[in-house]
Amino acid sequence: MSDIGLVSLVGAGPGDPELMTLKGLRRLREADAVVYDRLVCRELLEECRPGAELYDAGKAPGTGRHGAGQEATNRLLVTLARQGKSVVRLKGGDPYVFGRGGEEALALVRAGVRFEVVPGVSSALAAPAAVGIPVTHRGIARSVTIATGHDSRDGDGGHDWEALARSGGTLVFLMPVEHLESIAARLLEHGRSPAEPAALVRWATTPEQEVVFAPLSGIAEAAARASLRPPATLVVGPTVALAEVIAHGPVVLAGVPG
Ligand code: SAH
Repeated sequence: MSDIGLVSLVGAGPGDPELMTLKGLRRLREADAVVYDRLVCRELLEECRPGAELYDAGKAPGTGRHGAGQEATNRLLVTLARQGKSVVRLKGGDPYVFGRGGEEALALVRAGVRFEVVPGVSSALAAPAAVGIPVTHRGIARSVTIATGHDSRDGDGGHDWEALARSGGTLVFLMPVEHLESIAARLLEHGRSPAEPAALVRWATTPEQEVVFAPLSGIAEAAARASLRPPATLVVGPTVALAEVIAHGPVVLAGVPG
């Protein structure tokens, strides 16, 4: 095999294996090698053809739990492609939404490896949808902002909190669980109402799905009381109240907005 293989950065969707795209599934079934992420549904890996090489990116040599191994993953993708293999890099949700897909794409470009992106259904949109929250709604929310909740512990977390708070639209935070208190505090500080409805959705679209609803001022406490752990997505905004009417999925805790 002398040709360099194609690397496909494929979004696996938010959890439910049926929420993967047809194109992504086809790539997965045809791949010689699959490098997958921690949050990817194991059922999808059963779609790989017999003999396909499977690599857990979390366990690539030199990887740490918080992306210290990104370099190792980049190298692995390049090495497999140079061996002439068709490679699927399977990532949770959408590869370019807080998935470090951009870094992998840049590494592949630099190495001269052909690649494509097969977008996926991001948990940023699927998690609210799964519990009955439309992220936009005529007359209620005219924008949706997807932000990381991860680095908001100290300082301003890099966000323009005033702009986030002022947007009036729906705010979706990924990786928020450890920082719920500071996220809520910053939004309140910049003018969001304490009564603003909020929801924290865990393992959306899977059988383990859980959701906690509470007003913004109480969401951190409600999540703590429910012992809600990652992976979860925080949704803040007036459309969260619509879940009361549209609701799907098991509601773990009351304090439903309204
Ligand atoms: N690329 C992914 C996001 C990766 S960051 C996407 O587009 O969905 C990982 C974060 O995504 C988690 O910390 C959590 O905030 C969110 N997440 C991923 N899967 C989720 C799920 N099934 N339910 C709720 N949130 C999820």
